[in-house]
Amino acid sequence: MMNQLSDRINNLATSATLAMAAKARELRAEGKDIIGLSLGEPDFNTPDFIKEAAIEAINQNYNSYTPVDGYVELKEAIITKFKRDNNLNYSLPQIVVSTGAKQALANVAAVMINPGDEVILPCPYWVSYSDIVKLSDGVPVEVQTSIDNDFKMTAEQLEAAITPKTKMIWYSSPCNPSGSVYSKEELRTLADVLKKHPHIYVVSDEIYEHINFKGGHFSMAEFDDMYDRTVTVNGVSKAFAMTGWRIGYIGAPDWIARACNKMQGQITSGANCIAQRAVITALEADPSRIKYMVDEFKERRKLILDLLSEIEGFKTNEPEGAFYVFPNVSSYFGKTIKGKTINNASDFSLFLLEEALVATVTGEAFGNPDCIRISYAASQDNIKEAIKRIKSALS
Ligand code: PMP
Ligand code: GLU
Repeated sequence: MMNQLSDRINNLATSATLAMAAKARELRAEGKDIIGLSLGEPDFNTPDFIKEAAIEAINQNYNSYTPVDGYVELKEAIITKFKRDNNLNYSLPQIVVSTGAKQALANVAAVMINPGDEVILPCPYWVSYSDIVKLSDGVPVEVQTSIDNDFKMTAEQLEAAITPKTKMIWYSSPCNPSGSVYSKEELRTLADVLKKHPHIYVVSDEIYEHINFKGGHFSMAEFDDMYDRTVTVNGVSKAFAMTGWRIGYIGAPDWIARACNKMQGQITSGANCIAQRAVITALEADPSRIKYMVDEFKERRKLILDLLSEIEGFKTNEPEGAFYVFPNVSSYFGKTIKGKTINNASDFSLFLLEEALVATVTGEAFGNPDCIRISYAASQDNIKEAIKRIKSALS
């Protein structure tokens, strides 16, 4: 049958993280003992105090459509959170609550990008950025960074990538997938470049803010000269172990927030009412209540870095946040192991799935074809077993 689908969907890549997770599920259903280190999803339960708030909301009959941009009480909790954690002052019309940070990002793309507008993506970037940009007919401009600079974009690299068509820069800090955290000084050097280019806006994706092992999270919007040009994206999926609850949000200039509200009003309406009530409780809580998860991620980071250092040919930076390692595995390219020739990171990731029964994600999906991403949002036992299997498959 002729392909009747739109060019838009035909040209859209499938999310590599979700595709790998689906493949791992499929293989498990066939009886294979797959260890999933592909998905960036905390393996903790949502904390009880948040679950109780949701149950309470159901009992109180929160069942109607919410305001498109979120309950006022939730937006107020977000404003307090931005002030408390990020030293950022937003007002109610500057906040939009969405169905996950993913929708928040898609809204921003849809309301900011015209066909042909360029969006600078320092590599490696989170898997969905480039396709979200393309869905809005934007042009992703990949800027390769170096593992020796902890995968961070320098001011010179940014300057070189800017053209009259540059509309935005999107980055995450802590970064998915490299775990890198931009310091205040590093962000200032980028902001200094942007001073000369007032037509460029920034998306600062801070969803891993709390999963930061070195401390000192800094938001681009904290600089006075960047506040009116920055959309701060955040959400509860990661730090609160609430991936399935689907709540994310932005703080932005009010004209951008209003546009996102309008966009969302035609596509999904307000986010889920029960989840929104629970997130009020999550955000009002002191961040110390989720520290036990961050501490555990920190231990796992040490474990996985120690174990990976014993495998020849894995070059890894030391991630400072999030829960991923992003080793360069290019020394294996061109080699044949167990009858399988590995030409690139996708072959390598597939090899690990088939021969070590460990699911990872190819770096190609993140704009870096020399690396693979390994999520350590898994138990220490699973991490140990997975790395043992990888080592043995490669030896
Ligand atoms: N940004 C980054 C950097 C992420 O890793 C993710 C992964 N979930 C998202 C955004 C989307 O998060 P959400 O679950 O809130 O849609
Ligand atoms: N953000 C997570 C990841 O990078 C979840 C999957 C997704 O939303 O694509 O694995």
